[in-house]
Amino acid sequence: MARVVVLGAGISGHTAALHLRRRLAKEHEVVVVTPNSKWNWIPSNIWVGVGKMTTDQVTFPLAPIYARKGIEFHQGLATAIHPEGDSSIPRGYVEITYTDPQKSGTSRKVEYDYLINATGPKLNFAATPGLGPDANTVSVCTPGHAIEAAKAFKETISKLKQGIPQTLVVGVGHGTCTCEGAAFEYAFNVEHELHLAGVRDLATVIYLTNEYELGDFGVGGMTFTQSGFATSSKIWTESLFRERGVHAILQAHVEKVEPGLIHYEQLDGIKRTLSFDFAMLLPPFRGVDLKAFNKAGEDITADMFAPNGFMKVDANYSAKSFEEWRAEDWPSTYQSPLFGNVFGVGIAFAPPHPISRPRKTEAGIVISPSPPRTGMPSGVMGKTVALTICDRIQHGNSIKAHVASMANMGAACVASAGSGMRTGTAAAMTMYPVVPDYQRFPDTGRSTKDTFGEIGLAGHWIKYLLHVMFIYKAKARFGWFLIPE
Ligand SMILES: Cc1cc2nc3c(=O)[nH]c(=O)nc-3n(C[C@H](O)[C@H](O)[C@H](O)COP(=O)(O)OP(=O)(O)OC[C@H]3O[C@@H](n4cnc5c(N)ncnc54)[C@H](O)[C@@H]3O)c2cc1C
Repeated sequence: MARVVVLGAGISGHTAALHLRRRLAKEHEVVVVTPNSKWNWIPSNIWVGVGKMTTDQVTFPLAPIYARKGIEFHQGLATAIHPEGDSSIPRGYVEITYTDPQKSGTSRKVEYDYLINATGPKLNFAATPGLGPDANTVSVCTPGHAIEAAKAFKETISKLKQGIPQTLVVGVGHGTCTCEGAAFEYAFNVEHELHLAGVRDLATVIYLTNEYELGDFGVGGMTFTQSGFATSSKIWTESLFRERGVHAILQAHVEKVEPGLIHYEQLDGIKRTLSFDFAMLLPPFRGVDLKAFNKAGEDITADMFAPNGFMKVDANYSAKSFEEWRAEDWPSTYQSPLFGNVFGVGIAFAPPHPISRPRKTEAGIVISPSPPRTGMPSGVMGKTVALTICDRIQHGNSIKAHVASMANMGAACVASAGSGMRTGTAAAMTMYPVVPDYQRFPDTGRSTKDTFGEIGLAGHWIKYLLHVMFIYKAKARFGWFLIPE
């Protein structure tokens, strides 16, 4: 009998847990530890944030799904990993603190034979003074944040209806943020809703980003072939900004936010301020600050995790210049180099290097996107690790791991630019591979055949269809496993 523990029921952890349960015989246990009682389809939070969806449309309770599937569920927060156990527990275990209101604050040790760390990001609002829903800006990272964002947005619209001009700033709240795609989507959904409310003319919409140029999205931009011509995501994105009258402030690191005032510095080293009436700025991400201890109880956190709190896996983390990095430096098995039965997937694993060229001000302030790990790769990693663990439980630990490197993986990204079955639009992009490989594709780092973008109403339908399909899949309804990650 083997016991597999999954930390985090987000896109990667929930995917891993469902595949494990489907493939493992009943005698083996699958256990999920996660702090929230509900699953959230995060990509649709942007629609909650403009009042187009309710939180119930983007979430559902996990407990009934896990009860139906025979997955043990602990609603709690993992705080420490003991991969070697200790003097009284001979195998690995995780310390958890319950968030379940019935047991709130109590803790427990959850033992495992295999562990998947899929804890995603810590939303690090604290990195920028004054940033976040507890301070001066709103967020769409969680359904709760998005509801508050929608309220603030509604108030902004009512001021506009009274004829009071408003400045709306949407973007990222730190020079090292990732997830620019989500900020881009929210900016264009805000712009679209202002139109529909008939108040666009009095509103100034500004996109504030750490990207060097538009269309970077933290993946160093893309080159598309359209109607036989090569075009860049920069040109493509710039034309959308021009068409919708959205202003962009690029290469920006937000230093602090005061009520109604953003202080930021740009790559030229000049510090500037920007007044706002409504601001949605995403926070930078870091690991969730799990600790790790060896059998003797000594702290081995720095061995298992990178300084940014993300877990080290089978990547090449040696220091190199940006030009020296290679696609093969990216991990493919997501196995911890220290403990063969521990894996880190989705946002929880430490990327070996940036994808967008790193840039700093003369004073050394980093202003460039961190590498994104979007939904599709996160789901694929979850499934890949689940397959490895199933094979090893069934055939022994010498079985080779399944692989899925982001340098050998495509990703589809559908960025909404406005919701509505007849008036909506979305920018649908696919890229292969996610991490550019200049050895295989010397011109652009990616296959121009498999990297393309299309903007229009059909993109909105696809985005909505993905919402329906992925919630169906996450609810583990009939045939869920036939829907790809
Ligand atoms: C606003 C927004 C919009 C986005 N839109 C898109 C999009 O359109 N397309 C796309 O591909 N990607 C999108 N993304 C990115 C996508 O959401 C992530 O790639 C994906 O959620 C990553 O999956 P994950 O499992 O690694 O992390 P998550 O989905 O964040 O899951 C992490 C889980 O771990 C839990 N957890 C945290 N700490 C602990 C702990 N200590 N112990 C146990 N559990 C813990 C969390 O509660 C959560 O359930 C968007 C992100 C945001 C913020």
